[in-house]
Amino acid sequence: GEMASSVAHELNQPLTAITNYCNGMLSRIERGQVSLQDLVAPLQKTAKQAERAAQIIQRVRAFVKRSAPNRSWAHPADLVHEAYELFEIELRKRKVRFRTYFAPNVPQLYLDPILIEQVIVNLVKNAAEALETAGVEESVRSVALQVRLSAEPSSVEFAVIDNGHGLAPEVERHLFDAFFSTKQEGMGIGLNLCRSIIEAHGGKLIAQNRYNETRERVVGCSFSFSLPIQPAVWSDSTHALPPQSPPPSA
Ligand code: ADP
Repeated sequence: GEMASSVAHELNQPLTAITNYCNGMLSRIERGQVSLQDLVAPLQKTAKQAERAAQIIQRVRAFVKRSAPNRSWAHPADLVHEAYELFEIELRKRKVRFRTYFAPNVPQLYLDPILIEQVIVNLVKNAAEALETAGVEESVRSVALQVRLSAEPSSVEFAVIDNGHGLAPEVERHLFDAFFSTKQEGMGIGLNLCRSIIEAHGGKLIAQNRYNETRERVVGCSFSFSLPIQPAVWSDSTHALPPQSPPPSA
């Protein structure tokens, strides 16, 4: 049940994108406003999303079945770049401004890129949805993704920060429970899966409200996760790490 829900939840994004691209192309064809050349880029994007959907099924299925992780060295900026293509439509639809910050010297990390990208997609999508649901004025809706080094323990921290209404105490208590959702169409499996993915990588996922200077008022929330720089042993299995260090391009 958990696996079916997780796969269905993660597939929402690429399937929505495929529908949007196809509808866009259809309406341009119907209006007779398109050349064959104009269709190449949207068709490439559609194919990429379909490929992504297939990868998600394979990786989430493997993760939930606890089979061998598919880890490789990847740079955080590349992960964010790949994830951006998946949540860009969501941000545009909800009129949310998106900014990124990368601290210098962030190293490559040994991880399963498809799974970590899905975590980023989930957190940004949740933030964008929260801004819209909270009725934050369009002109100030903002989500920031910050990536920096963290000393204790030596890790890279990714933080997704929004300026919504934050987390009510009863929501905060059940945030990571499977099937907990405050959304009408929500499946409530996103954060539960995100936390398992981060913990399997030896990291932590934390949600916190953000306050104004006098700490009287909630001004949004932040979801941050850390990933160890020294690759951790895959948490739940006997898969030892290969004696490998980042490629020299790191
Ligand atoms: P779903 O998105 O299907 O509801 P999730 O597990 O991703 O499932 O999220 C669970 C709940 O956590 C959401 O329904 C929402 O109430 C709350 N939540 C998640 N992210 C945020 C956020 N950035 N701001 C406010 N509430 C949030």
